[in-house]
Amino acid sequence: MGEESKANVLVFSFPIQGHINPLLQFSKRLISKNVTVTFLTTSSTHNTILGRAVAGGATALPLTFLPLDDGFEEGHPSTDSSPEYFKNFEENVSKSLSNLISTMDPKPNAIVYDSCMPWALDVCRKHPGVAAASFFTQCSTVNAIYIHFLRGEFKEFQDDVVLPAMPPLKGSDLPVFLYDNSICRSLFELISSQFVNVDDIDFFLVNSFDELEFEVLEWMKNQWPVKNIGPMIPSMYLDKRITGDKDYGISLFNAQTNECLNWLDSKPPGSVIYVSFGSLAVFKDDQMIEVAAGLKQIGHNFLWVVRETETKKLPSNYIEEIGEKGLIVNWSPQLQVLAHKSIGCFMTHCGWNSTLEALSLGVALIGMPAYSDQPTNAKFIEDVWNVGVRVKADKDGFVTKEEIVRCVDEVMEEKSEKGKEIRKNAERLMEFAKKAPSEGGNSDKNIDEFIAKIVK
Ligand code: UDP
Repeated sequence: MGEESKANVLVFSFPIQGHINPLLQFSKRLISKNVTVTFLTTSSTHNTILGRAVAGGATALPLTFLPLDDGFEEGHPSTDSSPEYFKNFEENVSKSLSNLISTMDPKPNAIVYDSCMPWALDVCRKHPGVAAASFFTQCSTVNAIYIHFLRGEFKEFQDDVVLPAMPPLKGSDLPVFLYDNSICRSLFELISSQFVNVDDIDFFLVNSFDELEFEVLEWMKNQWPVKNIGPMIPSMYLDKRITGDKDYGISLFNAQTNECLNWLDSKPPGSVIYVSFGSLAVFKDDQMIEVAAGLKQIGHNFLWVVRETETKKLPSNYIEEIGEKGLIVNWSPQLQVLAHKSIGCFMTHCGWNSTLEALSLGVALIGMPAYSDQPTNAKFIEDVWNVGVRVKADKDGFVTKEEIVRCVDEVMEEKSEKGKEIRKNAERLMEFAKKAPSEGGNSDKNIDEFIAKIVK
């Protein structure tokens, strides 16, 4: 950096992989623009995150990690979604965050907090002069759908939903909590809470880029000064302006990097289906067996991430039976995998980070959504951005092996017109994804504007 720091910012992510990644990436963007960043963790995740940051290289960044006291023992699962957990978490962390700001001299110019912790705004307001930026880790389309729902414009379990600036949606295209919120009431409440105080925040930052959701963004901008700052993926896959930024830097899982890359090196270009359902998805036993059977049947190689906790659901002898055609790992270096020349398409749960990564690298998609915002992302992948297909599930949400084979053929077969169209669109969107954070791109300008405003 060399120059004097322009501003001092606290960045606070909810401690799960899919939220740490974009917020850490945003921190790197700020640092590259001469802003001092403190990355806040929680006391029960601090040592884990720090240990993982060392392994992932994030501690080499000019970035301080500071814990906020959440009142839980180290290692308490951040996937606990009980109402008691969220209540205690909020109470303890709010207090700790406020104490931290009180001891800071000079005070931070801003807090950039994960939108699912909207109470950080109340803490901010106790400290005049500290700006509040809510960072949304999901896209504007999903934000807009939640907002319409919370305004009573459609009901839970509604099957056909028509909303401004987007195509007609079926119930199964909506974020899962709106179509089947019996799944977990406290998570639904957490998600809804993101919008309780958006009228009062100073900055509404979204991990997306303008060309992707142009119409919805226009609608959102008529309500709030929404700014896209994405895609928040390492710079070396986009504008390459942050030297050496190839990895997010903190991985809560151990990636089998050499194993994946060596195996991919041994496969022909464009021949491999990369299959991963993210850091949280849990399949029912019969669905896991069916996915395994579908992949065994396809006429292509596949690299499948099956997290350690899911491996027991694989059919016995499966690894021996698939032989060289398939590699199963517990965690992959996903960006390096997606950027590898052997990858032909990505079968994904359509988590927002995975979606943005594929869009940024121009990889065709097969969407098999399950949870949260994933069905909406899958709908847009197939019908709006036309960069992939989505598996059709039966009325119980089950996806058959035949359906998996059909989707793979549709994307991968050389003669498939749809496959060609998908690849063309993926290339086109990749250009926009790369331009957004490049010098003078819309996301870059929005980050500059954010910095200029907080130092005023
Ligand atoms: N990821 C990874 N290796 C894997 C699977 C996932 O590095 O084997 C990363 C992926 O690159 C993404 C994140 O984990 O950045 C998952 O986030 P996403 O929003 O896609 O899904 P979630 O895990 O939140 O459901």
